[in-house]
Amino acid sequence: MALLEIKNLHAEIDGKEILKGINLSINAGEVHAIMGPNGSGKSTLCHVLGGRDGYEVTQGTITFDGKDLLEMETEERAVAGMLLGFQHPVEIPGVKNIYLLKEALNAKREAQGLDEIDTFTFMKQVRELVASMDMDDAFLHRGVNAGFSGGEKKRNEILQMLLLEPKLALLDETDSGLDIDALKVVSDGINRMRGEERGIILVTHYQRLLNYVEPDFVHVLYKGKIIKSGDKTLAHRLEAEGYQEILEEAS
Ligand code: ADP
Ligand code: MG
Ligand code: MG
Repeated sequence: MALLEIKNLHAEIDGKEILKGINLSINAGEVHAIMGPNGSGKSTLCHVLGGRDGYEVTQGTITFDGKDLLEMETEERAVAGMLLGFQHPVEIPGVKNIYLLKEALNAKREAQGLDEIDTFTFMKQVRELVASMDMDDAFLHRGVNAGFSGGEKKRNEILQMLLLEPKLALLDETDSGLDIDALKVVSDGINRMRGEERGIILVTHYQRLLNYVEPDFVHVLYKGKIIKSGDKTLAHRLEAEGYQEILEEAS
């Protein structure tokens, strides 16, 4: 059974249909890239998977780890192991980053029937991850994403995922706005997350990230539908030829 199974998904915002029949199946251990021109519905798909308010599913089904995802609240989805990183991460200036990380980890542990993590173990683990992401400890004591640069937000996103070890990691435009050094650190973090028990979806407009994180599958989303799927060579083709030719081919 697939980790994530999307069947004939239609979704709308404000009565406007954005997703028009998406089918996608993701197994644990696989990395899928979702590419497509701006306005294709990539972020909408991410928001629908995350259960964000205002996105209405009008047709189709989504099964996650054997459960009906559409019946689950946003928090339940996270606890069940679906973690989303957003194109524009929220800022919560009054809440320290470290506090949020610990709460999230303990919520997951509670769902697994585990005790709260002890502070010593937690700090040790977090500090190791912070160092591995080439971040500064001071980061942990700042408000969540408050005043973080684009690159810092993305590093923070990967840090959360490395700590929380989701079953499915969904990264929307994680590469946008990163300079080359940050891109390498972030890609490295994503590659460390790869594993038998985890699925990863990378949403990206550009091929650049995929030079560092090699996807097993590439899908092209256009006008709310997946118009083409292939292996990593499809991303190379898009880079070389642009979207136009593939769009014409598919229509
Ligand atoms: P992508 O991430 O591929 O660039 P989006 O999912 O952000 O695409 O957008 C897909 C389409 O949905 C676009 O036409 C966009 O204008 C529209 N859209 C996105 N968010 C909203 C919204 N909140 N209200 C109305 N239309 C929206
Ligand atoms: Mg966009
Ligand atoms: Mg987007």
